[in-house]
Amino acid sequence: MLIDSHAHLDSERYADDRAAMLARAWEAGVSTVLAIGIGEHASGMDGALKICREFNPQSDQESTQGAKFPRLYASAGVYPHNTPEADETVLTQLDTLLAKPEVIACGEIGLDYYHEGAPHNIQRAGLIAQLEIAAARKRPILIHCRGTNESTDAWDDLLLILEENWRPTGLGGVMHCFGGGWEEARRSLDLGFLVSFAGNLTYPKAQPLREVAARIPLDGILVETDAPWLTPAPDRGKRNEPAFVTRTAHSLAGLLGVSSEEIASATTKNFLRLFRLGADVGN
Ligand SMILES: [Zn+2]
Repeated sequence: MLIDSHAHLDSERYADDRAAMLARAWEAGVSTVLAIGIGEHASGMDGALKICREFNPQSDQESTQGAKFPRLYASAGVYPHNTPEADETVLTQLDTLLAKPEVIACGEIGLDYYHEGAPHNIQRAGLIAQLEIAAARKRPILIHCRGTNESTDAWDDLLLILEENWRPTGLGGVMHCFGGGWEEARRSLDLGFLVSFAGNLTYPKAQPLREVAARIPLDGILVETDAPWLTPAPDRGKRNEPAFVTRTAHSLAGLLGVSSEEIASATTKNFLRLFRLGADVGN
């Protein structure tokens, strides 16, 4: 069984078939999905928690949905380009959300210098403000980091901030949809982060990323879909969904020279360790 460590289950693109999509994930061997709560705008960051509550069975009762679904967890956070919205009200909302037992992570937060959007200094201030809240709630963080074209500018700023503001917490986190080089991977592992690979690992032009992936120790990896985006080959461009995380896991197994079962067991173990969860999976 696999864990999809990053999927935007609250996306509008699942409005018509969310239950069927989750049932397909379970059928494909996905035990657990971490639903990402960033919304279109910061005010919608409770979207992932709502999906959790809709599809997870309430306490001891059986699932009322009739189908078997993966166990869902949620995150909440203000996406880098939404940081200009991160006022007192939004940060209080984040703090309230992180107090919920289903909301196991703060994210995706970080720095994005690739797309035009929030000024870089606002992104950095928004990140630091959220690190404080996540630390107080003892929630690991999910990091989005993308530099200007081939530059490591965002990574340089990010790692500096994490060294100073996050390492002392010992809480660690996930480098989501990892796209850096070996140096960034090595420094992330050193900071106690897991490195999570998405469907772009399977794309023809991703040879440099595959070379980085091949060097990561088994106890440092996760797999994710980032659904509805980044559909693995050969369906690139179509809507992605958690069931397809199996393809990324298969590709990673080939790169690391281990079986798909070993990838499943290592990534599951890593996820449960980071978020201090029990081994009970599925609904
Ligand atoms: Zn994402």
